[in-house]
Amino acid sequence: MHRTLIVIFSTVCTTLATAQSPSKPTLIEHVRVFDGTRVLENSSVLIDGGIIRSVGAAIPRPAGATVIDGTGKTLLPGLIDAHTHTIEENLLQQAPVFGVTTDLDMFTDPATAARIEKDQRAGKLLDYADLRSAGYLATSPGGHGTEYGLPVPTLTRPEEAQAWVDARIAEGSDYIKVVYDDSVEYGVKEPKPTLSKEVLKALADAAHKRGKLVVMHIGSLQQALDAIDAGADGLAHLFVGATSTPDFGKMAAAHRIFVIPTLTVLNTICATDFDSALADDSRLKPYLLPSATAAMKATFGLPGKIGCEGAKEAIRQLKAAHVPILAGTDAGNPGTTQGASIHGELELLVRAGLTPVEALHAATAAAAAAFHLDDRGQIAAGKRADLVLVNGDPTGDIRLTRDIVAVWKAGHPIDREAWKATVAKQVEDQTKAKTAAPPAGSESGLIADFEQDGAPQSKFGAGWMVSTDQMAGGKSVGKLEVVPGGPEGSKNALRVTGEVTQGFAYPWSGAMFSPGPTPMAPVNLSARKAIQFWAKGDGQTYQLMLFSQRLGYRPATQNFVAGAEWKQFTLTFASFGDLDGSDIMAIVWCAGPKTGTFAFELDNVRLQ
Ligand SMILES: [Zn+2]
Repeated sequence: MHRTLIVIFSTVCTTLATAQSPSKPTLIEHVRVFDGTRVLENSSVLIDGGIIRSVGAAIPRPAGATVIDGTGKTLLPGLIDAHTHTIEENLLQQAPVFGVTTDLDMFTDPATAARIEKDQRAGKLLDYADLRSAGYLATSPGGHGTEYGLPVPTLTRPEEAQAWVDARIAEGSDYIKVVYDDSVEYGVKEPKPTLSKEVLKALADAAHKRGKLVVMHIGSLQQALDAIDAGADGLAHLFVGATSTPDFGKMAAAHRIFVIPTLTVLNTICATDFDSALADDSRLKPYLLPSATAAMKATFGLPGKIGCEGAKEAIRQLKAAHVPILAGTDAGNPGTTQGASIHGELELLVRAGLTPVEALHAATAAAAAAFHLDDRGQIAAGKRADLVLVNGDPTGDIRLTRDIVAVWKAGHPIDREAWKATVAKQVEDQTKAKTAAPPAGSESGLIADFEQDGAPQSKFGAGWMVSTDQMAGGKSVGKLEVVPGGPEGSKNALRVTGEVTQGFAYPWSGAMFSPGPTPMAPVNLSARKAIQFWAKGDGQTYQLMLFSQRLGYRPATQNFVAGAEWKQFTLTFASFGDLDGSDIMAIVWCAGPKTGTFAFELDNVRLQ
């Protein structure tokens, strides 16, 4: 007993020690300082215990201090990305590698965000960007935000607003995010349902009653004007479309709102190649995981060409009217990634008419002020030691924010070299995978015909197993059994049954085939072009998910409907997006995220 107590106690001590960051002071001398608003030439900054202790022309060197010569370099406050989505938790670790020390999430699974924020408060997760989150967003049934599989609680009437807001606050939401967008601007055929202006106003009033900010997502200029009128504290995006109205800036100023233009994601919607170029920047590339590079090169695949010139015009008006503009990327969407994309956003803000100093202000002091994060966003005595040291002068050339020398989060130095080594290893593994021999036994292309009774067999690889969200803390269940009868006179087939239940953000259950020697070990199947299988079932829509090393744990998916009659499906690797089959970790046939019981059968599964 006693021994156990000692172990627990020493663990707590260790945690606290890491939390307080090195007690050894660090002094950065002769450095150009951008303090969040102004430029101070040839200055010194002393940090200790996670806090900026002093800023001045000459600071005496404390005994035992680490001294850094900042000649020719610029020290910036840690960057704040004012619009992100926490979809893959490991990308919160990628953000500070690129200087983003605070992430303002605008929609994610609230339980995940609450767990991360709790750990942060306990002094853990020093290598993560500091997270604040909206949790679930407010939207109408079937509206934007409901399509990702998260069980978003929706609302339709103004009377529901207070209870909805209070439920979010109870879940841990730091502010309230509202969607007001019917997707018409993106060229969709059927407008999506969206909240009424009355509900927007009720949500804003309900949030303000509890002292919370309301940030509104809009798609069109008219929606932006409605959102401002309804009481938004800030816009989570600028609108798409070719023009702005002449008095948009004045109206924003009169209502004292802030605006997060998210030019990065507008750029993806408008299908320019800006972010692909960013992913190839030699100052960023060595730190980008292959999955992050793939995300930055992805597009929405929207129909037709959409104009985004209205956003540029709006930024000119906002600047003239002194409306706070905040840098946000919408990371988590196609064309973006955590951390690296902020450097693209800064360049786009400058291209839209901000000076480099104004763009840096948007990513630091302006964001901190708008979200009442009083402890950060500035280089001043008493503030958190969230700092980015870069070569050269980004207050002259904004692209120099990419030339990072060092990053500190609350005084904790971010180990960029370790991250770079992780990236290099993944890139090397993928290069090797492309030339690797296909797995032994895969020569005929047949994966499984289920002709043997008993447990499902495969011709190669680690074989078949049930795959459910239980591995992510969910509660869905599934079962695999070889049953008599298949298509075209086949003796047996694989029956997959189970129930998808709420318990994890993206619930699923189904059958997984691992082509490698162990489950999820990547293999090269690029000699083949497609996956072919027969299926029948209860008429529901199912997903074929392909796990590839380049996409990490985010599967590429396609839907298929398992109807009453056997039907053959052929899905090419290329149809899953940027896949060539050279790094396939698993193939999963599953039900979800829709909940309920399900039953389908598979047979004659092969590579084509
Ligand atoms: Zn977003």
